[in-house]
Amino acid sequence: TPSAPSGPLDGLNEEQLAAVTAPERAVSVIAGPGTGKTKTLVSRIAYLIQNRGVKPSEITAVTFTNKAAGEMRERLEKQLGGKRAVRAMTIGTFHAICLQLLTEHTQGVNLLDEYEAREIADEVGKAHACKLSPTAFLQEVSRRKNGLEPSESALSSEVFDAYQECLHTANVLDFDDLLLQAVAMAEAETEKNAKWAKRFHYLLVDEFQDINALQFRLVQAWNRNGKSLFVIGDPDQSIYGFRGSDAHCFARLEESFPAMRSIRLLKNYRSTPEILRCALPVISENEGSQRLLEAQHPSGALVRCVTAESDLSEGIYIAKEINRMVGGIDMLDSDAGFSHAEDAPPRSFSDIAVLYRTHRQADLVEKCLRREGIPCVIAGRDDFLADDAVRGAVSFFHFLLDVQNDPALRACLKLVWNCPADLIGSLAQFFAQAASGNPSQEALDAAATEYADVAVLQPFFAQVEEFRQRVGKEKPRKLLDAWAKAQGLTASEPFQRLLNTAVFHKDMASFLQNLLLGQESDLMRSATGKLYEAGAVTLMTLHGSKGLEFPVVFLAGVRQGKIPLESPKHPANVEEERRLFYVGMTRAQDELILLTSNEPSCFLDAIPADCLHKTTTGGKKRASEMKQLSLFD
Ligand code: ATP
Ligand code: MG
Repeated sequence: TPSAPSGPLDGLNEEQLAAVTAPERAVSVIAGPGTGKTKTLVSRIAYLIQNRGVKPSEITAVTFTNKAAGEMRERLEKQLGGKRAVRAMTIGTFHAICLQLLTEHTQGVNLLDEYEAREIADEVGKAHACKLSPTAFLQEVSRRKNGLEPSESALSSEVFDAYQECLHTANVLDFDDLLLQAVAMAEAETEKNAKWAKRFHYLLVDEFQDINALQFRLVQAWNRNGKSLFVIGDPDQSIYGFRGSDAHCFARLEESFPAMRSIRLLKNYRSTPEILRCALPVISENEGSQRLLEAQHPSGALVRCVTAESDLSEGIYIAKEINRMVGGIDMLDSDAGFSHAEDAPPRSFSDIAVLYRTHRQADLVEKCLRREGIPCVIAGRDDFLADDAVRGAVSFFHFLLDVQNDPALRACLKLVWNCPADLIGSLAQFFAQAASGNPSQEALDAAATEYADVAVLQPFFAQVEEFRQRVGKEKPRKLLDAWAKAQGLTASEPFQRLLNTAVFHKDMASFLQNLLLGQESDLMRSATGKLYEAGAVTLMTLHGSKGLEFPVVFLAGVRQGKIPLESPKHPANVEEERRLFYVGMTRAQDELILLTSNEPSCFLDAIPADCLHKTTTGGKKRASEMKQLSLFD
């Protein structure tokens, strides 16, 4: 039978339909995981265009990650039958949208990367005898910019101003400044420039529970002359409190819009009743009214809770289980006689995710999977930007694109050419003066002449000479390749990843910006260094898993100290850690496997015993595990 043409309202339940079509000026959808909030937001965009005649250029949708923005674009392209309409919309994270807005108006917006920021913090801190570590320093700066109360380790105004002065002279913005400038821009433009404000006529925000004070101000500023504001989220999934997000944002919005329509969704389309029966009692330990989720899935397997004797046996167990699920051969222990479970469908690797609390836990899991020949990708903030060669290259091209970018100049002179500090200072000062009011090219010529006698700088100027014309014309991948050759760099793994990332970009400037914005942070790292699109197990942190879903989820390290994460330096915020655990559990569609130890996480206590199938990784494999251990050395 021919299928009926699909419209934006097809297959929605009554409450979702109400949300998609709500005519009110401001609408909020507050609902639990898997209830179709994101689906509703996407449907609403399609509905606005197809049924209400709204122009795509009047629509802005804010997502929490770049990955989510990409997925949203894809779904809309399918729904709207083409790329054109989607291209006219503004879709992205707050930072990506702000960067886009600022670059439309200003030439050369330079963002400060976190390493450069730390270096400036270190320098300014030292100069002012400030006792904070660079990380704590930057946290305080950010608290201030977000209008938050300083913590006990407050930063004096003098030190803060000195830091800002540094950024200002270097012509760079940190991530909070990016938002602050966007707020200022929105406040100025909305009044005088109706055309500018148009793109925010229909403003939609996903994961609203995680926006911080500055982002809240942005939403208000963008929305001032708007026609419709639509926000969705789940306060129980608010997991960025440590970064200043504020779960009271729904209540605050209601103060601005007393007539705001608030819609709840109760039907959960993601998970089996077994999974929800475990997740709900956990989150119910937090303050708040009763949580309800009505499972729409048929009944499935019990949630497994597996006690492992060590991280290693945990990793090995996960690897073996994955191979069993995909119907592969158990290579480590083929005499164990595992056969594929009869009732479970065969899985593909991409059906499976392994989630953990901290990035650090990824390594061992990755090793274990690799040992079993399981393709995996590690999603999330990649560490290749910490590599010296990568940072050297990135800062060199940053500098070439804007010779006033002082942090970039300093970084590349230090990392690539190993220049002594006083010489770096002198050259930086020269550029600061030469470049003010002059085009970069002239400043470069002047510097080359001025420093012609300084031998250590000659290789630097030679590279500048080689690349200054090319940087604006050639593709980033080619430039980086050529630069590595000129440097005599043998392609290290991190540099290879930089090259892989560059492949998708047309020009160096936008490539570098995206890199800093973490636009590439969803880029996957595979065991072999190759990029897998599909057919691989996903490894990610609980934070990174927000909004996603997988048929099978392993939660690694469900033990005290890990989740809730606790250390002398990191006193646990138990409610937030519980929300994080809840986010992790509710990613699973069919099967959830919790890995614990003899110090189980206190969060497990909330789960009724008859909701869990308790087991161990099995003692009899001890000997073979010990053999494995030696394989890893
Ligand atoms: P989270 O809080 O985790 O972000 P969410 O509320 O955004 O979850 P979605 O990701 O939009 O939930 O939807 C979860 C799953 O349920 C998706 O696979 C989606 O396609 C499916 N779904 C949502 N609504 C319906 C529906 N009315 N009928 C069938 N499937 C649905
Ligand atoms: Mg969602």
